[in-house]
Amino acid sequence: MSEMAKSLVFTGERQLEIREYPVPEVSDDKVLIKVDASAICTWEQRVYTGVKKVEFPFIGGHEMSGRIIAMGKNVDRQQWAVGDMVVAGVTLPCRNCYQCKSGNEQNCENFNHSKHLEGLPEKGMGGFSSHLLVDPVNLFHICNVEPEEAAITEPLSCVLHSVETGRVEFGDMVVVIGCGIMGLLHVMLSIRRGASVIVSDTNEERMGLALRLGASCAVNPEKESLEERVREITGGTKAQVVFDTTPVSAVAEHAVQAVANNGRLVLYSSFYPDTPVSISPDWLHKSGAKLLGTANSNTVDFIKASRMISQKIVDMKPFISEVYELKDYKKAFESAVRGDKFRVVIRF
Ligand SMILES: [Zn+2]
Ligand SMILES: [Zn+2]
Repeated sequence: MSEMAKSLVFTGERQLEIREYPVPEVSDDKVLIKVDASAICTWEQRVYTGVKKVEFPFIGGHEMSGRIIAMGKNVDRQQWAVGDMVVAGVTLPCRNCYQCKSGNEQNCENFNHSKHLEGLPEKGMGGFSSHLLVDPVNLFHICNVEPEEAAITEPLSCVLHSVETGRVEFGDMVVVIGCGIMGLLHVMLSIRRGASVIVSDTNEERMGLALRLGASCAVNPEKESLEERVREITGGTKAQVVFDTTPVSAVAEHAVQAVANNGRLVLYSSFYPDTPVSISPDWLHKSGAKLLGTANSNTVDFIKASRMISQKIVDMKPFISEVYELKDYKKAFESAVRGDKFRVVIRF
């Protein structure tokens, strides 16, 4: 009997099962990759817990790394070879709408999480599968790291887009609110751009990690006022860039108070629930500050993120909290949704 491929499929709230499917035949324009590692992002955790609604059955997974095991006859042999270590990304944008065509795939008007990908047994993003057919347009080389670290290229690419959106420059004071994986990646990249970073979280352990990663100051808002500390540290000027990486909209209202004149507030996370907040229009008018949103990443972000990981400009190891074998998927998801991990990764 020929080898079977396996997908981890959501079949209901807190329900997952492994479905076998035939290893896909490689088509002319695609490559077949064997997925080695796939990380459980917040998005998949929300599907698992039922906060995010999808139509079941559904294959999640959009943070994965693997190796090329076969190539279609039209695939460019100068760029790609069997055995190459790769990550797949930017698979959801339509590449046809105004945003995609103008270089902003991260804000595509037609994002579709629920396409039925060629070769897979069910619809969905597909990363929780052992074998995937990928268009080389969505492939990025990666090397010098373990598959688990490579798998989290996607979150790094999104944070890279956020830091570019905030235009962090040499000598800036940056405030990062929230010290989960996304907050800590903002800390790392802001420091690489020449900024001094203040972090804010109520979790002292996570702030400790932020300080080890190079943050210069940690503020626990339960114990002291973030705004006052930022004023104090900057001699009243406040921060050129504030990144809010928490899903709590009340925090966004607070974050505004740490922004300098002509500074930028970047709202990175999605908000659950999406409660409106009030911001003084006159402050915005007078300060010249900018309120910016950011979500997802584009091809440029992805290639840069994959190079930063391959060239060890950033170290992703601190963010791999746990690695599980596919058969232990239940344990992996239960652990991920406890909320005290950075990334839980499944090995395929
Ligand atoms: Zn993700
Ligand atoms: Zn589009």
